[in-house]
Amino acid sequence: MLWVTLLDNKSVIIIGAGLSGLYLTHRLGQLGFEVTVLEARDRIGGRILSQALGENRHDCVDLGPSWVWPAFQPRLSHLLDELKLDVFPQFTRGDSLYQLPDGGIERHAGPSPHEQSSRLVGGAQALVNRLAESSNMTLHLNTRVQSIDAETKTVLAMKGDETMSFTADHVVSAMPLRLLAETVSIQADIGDELLNHWKAVPTWMAGHCKMVFVYDSPFWRDQGLSGEVFSHHGPLSEIYDGSPYSKEDSGPGFALTSFVGLNAHQRESVSESQLMNACLAQLEQLFGAQARAVEQVIIKDWSHEAMTTRPSDLSGPHRHPEYPANLPRQLLGRFLSIAGTEAAVEFGGYIEGALESADTILALLVGSESR
Ligand SMILES: Cc1cc2nc3c(=O)[nH]c(=O)nc-3n(C[C@H](O)[C@H](O)[C@H](O)COP(=O)(O)OP(=O)(O)OC[C@H]3O[C@@H](n4cnc5c(N)ncnc54)[C@H](O)[C@@H]3O)c2cc1C
Repeated sequence: MLWVTLLDNKSVIIIGAGLSGLYLTHRLGQLGFEVTVLEARDRIGGRILSQALGENRHDCVDLGPSWVWPAFQPRLSHLLDELKLDVFPQFTRGDSLYQLPDGGIERHAGPSPHEQSSRLVGGAQALVNRLAESSNMTLHLNTRVQSIDAETKTVLAMKGDETMSFTADHVVSAMPLRLLAETVSIQADIGDELLNHWKAVPTWMAGHCKMVFVYDSPFWRDQGLSGEVFSHHGPLSEIYDGSPYSKEDSGPGFALTSFVGLNAHQRESVSESQLMNACLAQLEQLFGAQARAVEQVIIKDWSHEAMTTRPSDLSGPHRHPEYPANLPRQLLGRFLSIAGTEAAVEFGGYIEGALESADTILALLVGSESR
């Protein structure tokens, strides 16, 4: 069955209800644009995902991004004020641990690289939830865009077995560049060179796996440890205190949040129970027998997420990539605009980059409507 939705003038379709798409929706709504958001997943947030540990919605752990740096991220800082959202410092009190390739452990008293890192009260999810609540939009979840046609100004998307057709004055892609190039058909000749550029931009953190170990007490803090570990031994390569805000000083629901050091290909060769056993053995080595008394383990493997990750994302990159400044942000006669953190130049890959790229497109859309 074919549905047709005709939007009014100054109408915009945004592909992707991640942070970039939702922030742009929020700003366009404030300016009177009529915005339709098409989101392939059954939830908003994209790479932002927090999980509640209990009844209190503030008791969230982050399975996607945890850290923000409002002191250095002007858009985020402004948005947090506007949406009345609070941050709290990453817990860094105490010594950190460094694990050598042979498993040996060194204890260090030096300052943590996360002295300046903050986390959102309620998890990063609070940011996208608040944006969605405060935006005037039509949101279609479970709606996966398949093609964009500049001539008919139409976007075709699949919702279950149905093909849906949406028409608007402008379309903004707020999905990762590589995913756009490899999974959405653009019905116009945009050139192989641009497509290849998009395909070459890695989707930040797409191949990573986070594991959260939930405990009823912060036993590492009692040992004078911050919970921070850098390990060349593994299987966990980095560990932090990921306890939710409301439980920072007392009560049950503390967490050690970690990144698995094995890449996505290596993870495929071990079962979940093998991985879990190896991780618990490593935690016991680092923090003692209490580490075995884990209440809950949450595993989030982003390499399994087809709406984030492509096969070429499975093994890298190891370092934060440089994001190309010279790619066009608007094409097809200004019909199609490109947002999403991978399209940001200064803060590409980060939460701030999702906002930066949306602000760039906001200025271009406002400019093209006032011409
Ligand atoms: C494990 C992990 C840890 C991270 N840590 C940090 C951190 O500490 N600090 C930091 O600043 N950043 C961090 N990041 C990066 C941060 O999450 C991203 O920069 C940011 O969330 C990207 O937002 P976005 O809106 O640009 O993209 P996304 O969140 O990827 O949103 C894109 C949206 O498009 C949707 N979509 C895809 N294809 C289609 C389609 N065909 N049709 C319709 N919708 C589609 C997706 O479902 C998704 O909702 C981390 C990421 C991960 C995964």
